[in-house]
Amino acid sequence: MRLLLFSLFSLLTACASFAAEPLRVSAFSSVLAEIASRVGGGEVAVTSHVPAGSDPHEFEPKPSDLKTVAKADLVLLSAKHLEGYVGKLKEASGGKVPVLEVGAQLPSLWLEGESKNAREEDPHWWHSVENMRKAAKVVGAGLIAARPEQKGVFSANLEVYTTELTALQKWARVKVAELPRDKRKLVTSHDALQYFAKEYGFAVYPVTGLTASEQPSSRQVADLLKTIKAQKVKAVFAEDTANPKVLRQITGETGAILGGQLWVDGLGTGAAGTYEGMMRHNVTTIVDALK
Ligand SMILES: [Zn+2]
Repeated sequence: MRLLLFSLFSLLTACASFAAEPLRVSAFSSVLAEIASRVGGGEVAVTSHVPAGSDPHEFEPKPSDLKTVAKADLVLLSAKHLEGYVGKLKEASGGKVPVLEVGAQLPSLWLEGESKNAREEDPHWWHSVENMRKAAKVVGAGLIAARPEQKGVFSANLEVYTTELTALQKWARVKVAELPRDKRKLVTSHDALQYFAKEYGFAVYPVTGLTASEQPSSRQVADLLKTIKAQKVKAVFAEDTANPKVLRQITGETGAILGGQLWVDGLGTGAAGTYEGMMRHNVTTIVDALK
């Protein structure tokens, strides 16, 4: 009898530890890593492959990243063409690990290029809190599909997180309302804030094209200087990943001030290390500089 009890106990603990094995999630964006951690809670182990504060446009997975992906239960991507290496990830997992392209399920805005054919999908969808609410739902569905027996936990976590995002959105709208509509003009060193601009009624004047590494032509800079003067733009913004040299030229020639650093390519560091912290930093920096 004692032996039987012991065996039963071992079997039960074996089952319990199997069930408690966390779901392995590989997130290729610090924003998605936060969503997965918040919605997954204690049921997931999230690897954030693209460090906060680094340039996701330049990111390439290392062999160690591919090794982690091969053992993952779910891979999360921003999509909208941000991850040019998606083929490598699928290859690494032998097509066996579900790859959830979260951004593909969200509405797209487009970046105009030099010609009509050159227009590109803007991948920076997370600057819209509304998109974040949708993304959290998409990730939640992905987690439930991977582990249906935890549906109750994931749904409850999703509700808490969504409630926080709703409160954040309310705060952002009140803060932006401090700024008259004719002062909502954004000049930044790479075109990453279209979703933000659409949500809060700003016009965007980008210095360069899609990526921080692109250098603007002298013609582009001259046009921008003219716009800033004509539109009476009070401040321009540097970014986490871009070279602020051109911005300094602009401030020297137009009298606009440098409005501060924005986190545009993912979560930041310190207080901006969470989505809410990052959004609060960006909204406050923008509104206070343009007021
Ligand atoms: Zn970017």
